[in-house]
Amino acid sequence: MAALPTGIPFGPDDAAWSTGLDRLRTAGATRVSAPSADPRETYPQLPELPPGRFQLPARGLDATEYAQAEDLFRRYVEDHSSRSLGYQLHWSEDFARRLAPYLGLQLNNIGDPYQHGAFMPNSKVLERAVLDYFASLWNAKWPHRAGDPESYWGYVLTMGASEGNIQALWNARECLSGKPLAGQPRLPADTAHENPNARHPVVFFSRETHYSLTKAVNLLGLDTFHALGSSRYPDANPLGPGTEWPTEVPCVGGVDGPGAIDVEKLSLLVRFFVRRGHPVFVNLNYGSTFKGAFDDVPEAARAVHEICAEYGMAERTFPSDREGTGARPRPGYWIHVDAALGAAYVPYLRMARAAGLVESAPPPFDFRLPQVHSLTVSAHKWMGAPWPCGVFMTRNGLRMPPPRSSEYIGGTDTTLSGSRNGFSALLMWDYLAHHSYDDLARQAAECDRLARLAHERLLKLQSGLGVDLLVSRSPWSLAVRFRRPDEAILRRYSLAYETLLVDGVERPYAHLYVVPHVTEGLIDALLRDLGQPGAFAGGAAA
Ligand SMILES: *Cc1c(COP(=O)(O)O)cnc(C)c1O
Repeated sequence: MAALPTGIPFGPDDAAWSTGLDRLRTAGATRVSAPSADPRETYPQLPELPPGRFQLPARGLDATEYAQAEDLFRRYVEDHSSRSLGYQLHWSEDFARRLAPYLGLQLNNIGDPYQHGAFMPNSKVLERAVLDYFASLWNAKWPHRAGDPESYWGYVLTMGASEGNIQALWNARECLSGKPLAGQPRLPADTAHENPNARHPVVFFSRETHYSLTKAVNLLGLDTFHALGSSRYPDANPLGPGTEWPTEVPCVGGVDGPGAIDVEKLSLLVRFFVRRGHPVFVNLNYGSTFKGAFDDVPEAARAVHEICAEYGMAERTFPSDREGTGARPRPGYWIHVDAALGAAYVPYLRMARAAGLVESAPPPFDFRLPQVHSLTVSAHKWMGAPWPCGVFMTRNGLRMPPPRSSEYIGGTDTTLSGSRNGFSALLMWDYLAHHSYDDLARQAAECDRLARLAHERLLKLQSGLGVDLLVSRSPWSLAVRFRRPDEAILRRYSLAYETLLVDGVERPYAHLYVVPHVTEGLIDALLRDLGQPGAFAGGAAA
């Protein structure tokens, strides 16, 4: 007979799960649910993290058990961190030294960053300093002023750029579907004389786009050009009449190319929908997740704007935007720049170029381009925040009104999350206070140099081994791609991988990402491992 579920060994001492449940009469075993199977056999396991050591019995852990478990866990984190080479994640011990005391306190930036809010302790004074810093770095008009539509508005995200993408798409949806904007009168929509598509936005993004954008599209009930194209116009794909609509906008050079959006194809697709009266949302990537590719933002933005201008969609006025009510015309398109890594890296790389430290840098991406409406950055990538966070920024005049004001939080609820992480603003402020433009420009130049070096050494390894290691680096990218190596190497260096289907043939890629903690020594260690026999077991180089 199978053991009773309550007899499952549980916790560091392997005692039956039910042990100690009834120490207090009020917490009897009948008040909590028993395991239905052994969790140790159910979940994925790493040899260095035996799950039993971390299980939480009703009695908690004693001091020895706790110390042993915490030691195992910390060793695992530190060990993996020291060799991490595969993700655009970075960290710095400075935060621990300076900011540890705050972990015993509460910092909640609930509500709009520009209002004092309720009297709970918050870091909004630091948040506003951080936002102004980025507004300046990204060439927006600052400071934020409530009555100035040209000034910026933004906030520090509690998630990473995924939240920035959701917020951007949400705000864009309201703007493009003719909803009232912040500070504008809420008048009834008079749609009688409108093009039936005038309030039906269509979303465009390239195949290199981060998965959070698809999630945001689903969450917000929006239509992509693929969804609308294939349901309404199945035979009219402008990229090839009679062929199927692509699910994403193609990139230059196809699936295996460098990864920048194909502006010519984007234009054909955008024109198809704008001609029919649809407003459009275009996501551009400034440092794509896998290839680290930079879309040509100025070129794509200009193309979208010109197409919209041709069909009277560059600027529109809805009846609810009527003159004399203080309302303004609004754009019939929205360009969002997903610059999760790039917005905190390239501005400094461009400074490095101006100082002669590097030869070139990607074209601009920010609010100096009048067609750019919002952008987002993750702070746990280039800046090394120890948990996910970031910044979202838009133009104040395009902001949607908050769903409602709340006296309880002492202000307007203009942000996606309710309670917001006030430590994130503190971290970013701490980071920016300790790094001058000069420091960051030098650091950017050094990362660029190491990415070039990693690329060259991989090419050398490839010719030395005489096999195709699929080595490639997109222009200015901090990611260098190569053939996916053996599992042990993937694990040792925390390498990310992705399989591309190129003309029906699978190409198993991995990549390394050069971020500020990466050293030449770490790159060399990986290269040595990649040069060992069997490093590509199962692949061409086996
Ligand atoms: C990392 C990343 C994001 C956001 O991811 P988070 O995990 O939310 O920070 C969005 N876009 C791109 C291109 C990214 O690389």
